[in-house]
Amino acid sequence: MAAGSAIQIPSRLPLLLTHEGVLLPGSTMRTSVDSPRNMQLVRSRLLKGTSLRSTIIGVIPNTSDPTSDCDDLPSLHRIGTAALAVQVVGSNWPKPHYTLLVTGLCRFQILQLLKEKPYPVAEVEQLDRLEQFTNQHKSEEELGELSEQFYKYAVQLVEMLDMSVPAVAKLRHLLDNLPREALPDILTSIIRTSNQEKLQILDAVRLEERFKMTIPLLVRQIEGLKLLQKTRKPKQDDDKRVVAIRPNRRMNHIPSTTEDEEEEEDHDDVVMLEKKIRTSSMSEQALKVCLKEIKRLKKMPQSMPEYALTRNYLELMVELPWNKSTKDRLEIRAARILLDNDHYAMEKLKKRVLEYLAVRQLKNNLKGPILCFVGPPGVGKTSVGRSIAKTLGREFHRIALGGVCDQSDIRGHRRTYVGSMPGRIINGLKTVGVNNPVFLLDEVDKLGKSLQGDPAAALLEVLDPEQNHSFTDHYLNVAFDLSQVLFIATANTTATIPPALLDRMEIIQVPGYTQEEKIEIAHRHLIPKQLEQHGLTPQQIQIPQVTTLDIITRYTREAGVRSLDRKLGAICRAVAVKVAEGQHKETKPDRAEAGEGEDCKEHVTEDAKPESISETADLALPPEMPILIDFHALKDILGPPMYEMEVSERLSQPGVAIGLAWTPLGGEIMFVEASRMDGEGQLTLTGQLGDVMKESAHLAISWLRSNAKRYQLTNASGSFDLLDNTDIHLHFPAGAVTKDGPSAGVTIVTCLASLFSGRLVCSDVAMTGEITLRGLVLPVGGIKDKVLAAHRAGLKRIIIPRRNEKDLEEIAVHVRQDLTFVMASCLDEVLNAAFDGGFAVKPRVERLNSKL
Ligand code: ADP
Repeated sequence: MAAGSAIQIPSRLPLLLTHEGVLLPGSTMRTSVDSPRNMQLVRSRLLKGTSLRSTIIGVIPNTSDPTSDCDDLPSLHRIGTAALAVQVVGSNWPKPHYTLLVTGLCRFQILQLLKEKPYPVAEVEQLDRLEQFTNQHKSEEELGELSEQFYKYAVQLVEMLDMSVPAVAKLRHLLDNLPREALPDILTSIIRTSNQEKLQILDAVRLEERFKMTIPLLVRQIEGLKLLQKTRKPKQDDDKRVVAIRPNRRMNHIPSTTEDEEEEEDHDDVVMLEKKIRTSSMSEQALKVCLKEIKRLKKMPQSMPEYALTRNYLELMVELPWNKSTKDRLEIRAARILLDNDHYAMEKLKKRVLEYLAVRQLKNNLKGPILCFVGPPGVGKTSVGRSIAKTLGREFHRIALGGVCDQSDIRGHRRTYVGSMPGRIINGLKTVGVNNPVFLLDEVDKLGKSLQGDPAAALLEVLDPEQNHSFTDHYLNVAFDLSQVLFIATANTTATIPPALLDRMEIIQVPGYTQEEKIEIAHRHLIPKQLEQHGLTPQQIQIPQVTTLDIITRYTREAGVRSLDRKLGAICRAVAVKVAEGQHKETKPDRAEAGEGEDCKEHVTEDAKPESISETADLALPPEMPILIDFHALKDILGPPMYEMEVSERLSQPGVAIGLAWTPLGGEIMFVEASRMDGEGQLTLTGQLGDVMKESAHLAISWLRSNAKRYQLTNASGSFDLLDNTDIHLHFPAGAVTKDGPSAGVTIVTCLASLFSGRLVCSDVAMTGEITLRGLVLPVGGIKDKVLAAHRAGLKRIIIPRRNEKDLEEIAVHVRQDLTFVMASCLDEVLNAAFDGGFAVKPRVERLNSKL
């Protein structure tokens, strides 16, 4: 700048050799320094120097610094720019280097190289001087004309730019205030010029020459801008005409530079986007917003972060299926067949789904309740949802809500946030590309809540048929009609679904499967699917029903069929290895009947042997097809059984009883254990029990104490006061899981009765029921899941509250046939059924002697 002329540069300057970029007086450049000489210069001159003079260096352009400091110095460019080092930043990554920020002061010429190491230093002569410019009266007039011309072009150029951008306004101000002599250098470094051109300007020591050389560069830039504006201007007035003149513009455009073309291409994209917006079928309100946004986009420089944001927004708006939908093809008979083909059992669920679809067929209006399938994992909730989409011929999309605790996950972020995006509903619509998909809201019971708002509240709007025709995502900020979307929800339990949300939905319980149902599902659906996935055929593998039963009872314990499916997958993988190996062996399968004979029983044929994956000797022989999976093969593939029928073993001591519990994962059997020891009458409870369960335990003890004489229950020292000098410890296994609820009452009573009477509870009895202090048995929930769990565990007799009798109707007939149900309305009946031969009640003779 002018300062370059005002200060006198030292006559000896250290030289920084640069290869890329040309620094002109009055401009600033950032350059990376990593060669030994340049690094030395930075270290010993710039970083150690303390005076202003020590920060002045000579920048020599177009000269690469040798990569090693013993190499000879290349020939230096004759003219350089004296510069002020304004900033030095060091970094060690990816290799040690400095980044220098330098501001050009004035030109200089090298007179003589004084030294080359550790960095070059030269004696220099300053070339630009302010006095020289102003005192040269003789060329004043000519120069005045040139500079006037230059100034006019410069002003023209700046005025073609958008004055609302602060940098442009500043430039305009500079043009008027800087000495004219400084302008050629400054403008050259601002406008688009190549390094070669800049070098020529640097070499133009005479001012007149410099003006003359810069004017064509300015003119070129102005012409380029004019062309660009010619194409841009009409667009703002009349967008349709622009599309028409586009081919024209292309032709005009041929001579312009490649960078201009790039800009043009971006601009073309914006035009295309606008065209798409106009032709898309978005709502009027949305169209208005989009046109406003595209107007803003056109005025925005592309480097602005908001440019990309606005563009993404507009692209999303165009992509959304405002009016695109698939045609429903609903035929109830076909739907019934499809549902039956895809899913075994689940009669109640299928019936309700068909009713729902039938209503839909008769009344072409989706304002019905939202179906919510509630049941343990792996019982086919998601897959029924998928089947519904298939029967309707609609797209299917699953939205997992587990753990979602931020409102904006559903409703999107406002566009003012960095990284804002639409919510899952709008995203889902974009993915499926139609506005009437089936959306499966998976795990609505696992929605979280946090400071970022309640996602369940946002879902309320989505699920309400009265409101969802104008659902407003925060990101879109315009309403989108969701009324054509068919929502189905799934959950493991209704307990944690917020009541308002629950109110919007119709709950359909999907209970767990019985063993028989699981076997059927495995053979009809899971095994064929697994075979197909593993490239096997029924000619290669055979899984008999007994094996499936073994997997179900010994390797899985679940209400659904997901782990069963995984185990079958493991078997198929193991067999696939065998089959693939067998294909490479040509040896005839002539296997000796060798083997551990004692293990081979009835259905265990020699075919079982090749499955012994661990036996390397067998690998030499190709297996005989089909490979039969029997119990031995199972053990080889899946390891030893994980669950054994342990019930009878655990009931071999007094003080243990089996209860039935309900969890979101289905029913479960639960062993309640009790023991007593000398103490002061304290009750210890372990197994992470909730308050209600603790109260049940206290109730049970109180009832037993009050009835101790009647049942002849005594403590260790023979006293009827059961807690006299006795502590009782009650434990509910699986201590890591919190348990609560009143239904363990009868089990605790039975368990303690066994402890104090020293008698064993029958090993095939399980029970559930709430108790009162007076010994009544009250009804409880989840009877169906509990009964199925007892059936899975091989129990035979189940004690349930009498008032739960009606719940038994829901249970499949074959399960009911396997079990005996005892209906109890008071604890006497429970105890009588729980112990072999009944639990004798002593005639209440004492009562007569009562002092009361
Ligand atoms: P959920 O959503 O209840 O956790 P999924 O729908 O994911 O369970 O089901 C798990 C697997 O079990 C799926 O592969 C599904 O096809 C299969 N499945 C579950 N129930 C049945 C059934 N009744 N008939 C056929 N396959 C079933």
